This record gives sequence, C-alpha cells and structure tokens, in this order.
Amino acid sequence: MSKLAPVSIRISAPKGVYDVIGADTVRWDDLETRFFETAATWGYPRVRIPVFEHTELFVRSVGEATDIVRKEMYTFSDRGDRSLTLRPEGTAGMVRCFVEHSLDQTGLPWKAAYGGPMFRAENVQRGRYRQFHQFGVEAIGVDDPALDVEVIALGWAFLRHLGLVELTLLVNTIGRPEERARYVDVLADHVRKAVPGLDPDDEERLELNPLRVLDSRDPRVVEALATGPRLRDVLGDESRSHFGAVLDGLDAAGIPYEVDDTLVRGLDYYTSTTFEYASGTLDSAQNALGGGGHYDGLVEMCGGPPLPGIGFALGVERILIACESEGILAEVRGKVDVIVLHVGETAEPARRIAAELREAGVRTDVVFGNRSLKAQFKQADRSGARVAVVVGERDMERGVITLRDLDTGEQSEATLDSVRQEIEEVIGS
Ligand code: AMP
Repeated sequence: MSKLAPVSIRISAPKGVYDVIGADTVRWDDLETRFFETAATWGYPRVRIPVFEHTELFVRSVGEATDIVRKEMYTFSDRGDRSLTLRPEGTAGMVRCFVEHSLDQTGLPWKAAYGGPMFRAENVQRGRYRQFHQFGVEAIGVDDPALDVEVIALGWAFLRHLGLVELTLLVNTIGRPEERARYVDVLADHVRKAVPGLDPDDEERLELNPLRVLDSRDPRVVEALATGPRLRDVLGDESRSHFGAVLDGLDAAGIPYEVDDTLVRGLDYYTSTTFEYASGTLDSAQNALGGGGHYDGLVEMCGGPPLPGIGFALGVERILIACESEGILAEVRGKVDVIVLHVGETAEPARRIAAELREAGVRTDVVFGNRSLKAQFKQADRSGARVAVVVGERDMERGVITLRDLDTGEQSEATLDSVRQEIEEVIGS
C-alpha cells in the first residue's frame, strides 16, 4: 500500500498578530529592560500576572458598557466550562493580585510594575493590533495627589529618557462617579439638542456610556462639545482641589502638560485624574503611546478594602513606531561578534575554540555542514560578525589560526593562546 504524503498547507499567523524577529527583538527586549529598570528605580518592582483571568473580572472592572467588554474580548470556555478571557489590559489582573494576596498588609502604597501581551479583537491598522504589548505600573492604597504626580512623572521620565521629543502629556479629571452621573445627563441632553440625527455610533455611546461621546469624531458633535457643558464645572470642591494639587505637582516637577477636557479614556474604572502621553509622530487615531488614571472603587469591587489606586499602561509597539519616526531607534549589533570557520579536518578544534570563546562570554557562532571556504565566508558576512576565525589544517600544525576582520578584510595570525585576547581587541574597538 502506498502512503500518501501529507498535504502541505502554509498556515500564516492570524490577523492582528505578528512575529518579532532579528533586530526588532533586540530593540523590544531593550525597551522592556529599560522600562522595568526605570520602574524599579522609582520603587515599582515587577510582578508577573497571568495572561488569562475569569471573564467576570474584566466585565466588572473594565465595565459592561465599554467597547472592550462588548466587542473586543477573546473569551472562551475551558474544559470545566468556566468562562475565561485573555487579558485585554493589565490593571484588573494587578488589582485582583493585590486583593488575592492581601498585599495591603505589606505597606501602602503597594507599588508594582507589570508587562506582557494583551488581547483585543480590534480593527487592525498601524499601531492597533489584536495581540499587542503593554508595560505599566500601579500604585494602590494611598489617596495623595503627590502619588498621581509620581506615577505620571515616571511614565514621562521613561519616555523622555528614550530620547522622544514630540511628546505631549494630556491631563484631565473625570471626578467622582456621582459627579459624573450628574454631568452625563446634562451632556446627553446638550448633544441630542445640538446635533439632530446623531450618527448611530454616537447614539449608542450616549445610551450606553455617555462620556465616550467626548471621543466622537463627528465634526458636528465636536463643535457641540466645544460650547457644551464641561465636566470640570460640575465637580465638587474635593475633586477640584485634588486636580489642582496634581497640576501644581506637575508644575513643581517641571513637567509640561495640557489640560484636555475630553480625555475620559475608555475604561469604566477610572475616577478623578486621567492622563495620556501622546506622540506627535503618530496618526491622531493612534497617537496615544500610553495612558492611565486614578481608580477609586476598583479594589473594593474586586473584593478588597476600599482603597484608591492609580496607574498607567504604555504600548510597546507604538513606542517603537514613535522611536522609529523620531530616528532614535538604537543601532543593533550583529547577532554574534565572532564566527569560526574550518578548512579540512579541523571541525573539532574549531568547535573547541568556539567553546572557549563562548565560555569567556564572546558571542560566537560556528559553521555547520561540509561547506567550501567560500560558502563559509559568505555565511560569515551574513552573520554580522566582526571577526572570522579560520581554523585550517596546515595552520593548526604550526599552532596558529587566521583571524579576518570582516569589516576591513585585514587578516592576521594568532596563536591558540593569544586568539581570545586578539579577538577582544578587535571587537572591543
Ligand atoms: P489602554 O489600555 O486602552 O488605555 O491603552 C494604553 C496603551 O496601550 C495605548 O496608548 C496604546 O499604546 C496601547 N494599545 C492599546 N490598544 C492597543 C492595540 N490594539 N494595539 C496596539 N497598542 C494598543
């Protein structure tokens, strides 16, 4: 019986997800390392939280009426028929972690950083993906405008230290839930009167989550909002004074900002201070590199004590796009510094030399397979290495090997004892 060969089918990655390869990986890892180093320096050590949680956690915290919960979550039932969801954001998981481990017992505020992939079934475009990556911080447990300022300043310092210049910090306050409830009634009334025949999207927003109408792109709505009631005008004394103290703190820290009345952000748990870091290099629909805000009821809603929190999340992909646009992406070295070639029956000594170099921490590759010296040099050029070590039979009999500087083409001989030192001189230069 003849066996049929399996049919070959090429399966590509699903829409909205992508691979990170080569120099991009190096830049990505570097960005992440720098973020967690900055966060640790400010007293926000990293915690690792899971990629999926009970669906209910996100429904309750992010909010049933939000776009994320209504349209964008990757929700599935596991084998025990429990509803689980791939995390669309990190704050809900961080708060769950805080409550589950009674971290309020470890001293307040509890400050921590997190990062990793997030999942939202969004319309895919540049800067908007279905699996994307965020890192962020949370500070839970103390109601002090100075803590808002610290969190905002941390994100600002990180982005500025990357070398980004075209940055704007937008800040706003959305007050307490009861203040917002008063405001949304007046707002919905105003918009409906000013714009007859509202776009169905905006009508839906007014029905489900009226504050989101402030994000409308309909020019008629934008115009109506410009002359409409402002949330700030309905705030009570406490909310006003908190916001005033945050702005004073930013002034004192020398951080420039713009107050943006329309900055409400898309998640229900926010109260009081909201903020966003916008880049002038990105399209306006995707110009937020990150953002965050204060959340007053979230810890309690997740079964914990009534403690406030504040945090932000930054988008890795968008930061890298902004760095590229501003021409500040770091140069990335080749994947190795040295490649060891061999001619004739010298594969074994070549591997020994490579092993010694690796042991000494020199990034080293070897050539596999039985290839001509010409083919090996071609591979050496592609590898990005600075130096090729050529191990030849006759050279080995004399106890020497050849080093070739792959940038200049210059060749020299080294003894087996001096090879490491000579290489370090070239690659250290
Ligand atoms: P959010 O969690 O919606 O407040 O978003 C915070 C940051 O995460 C945004 O400013 C973006 O940088 C990034 N982000 C959010 N959604 C996406 C997405 N679908 N694709 C890429 N980045 C995203």
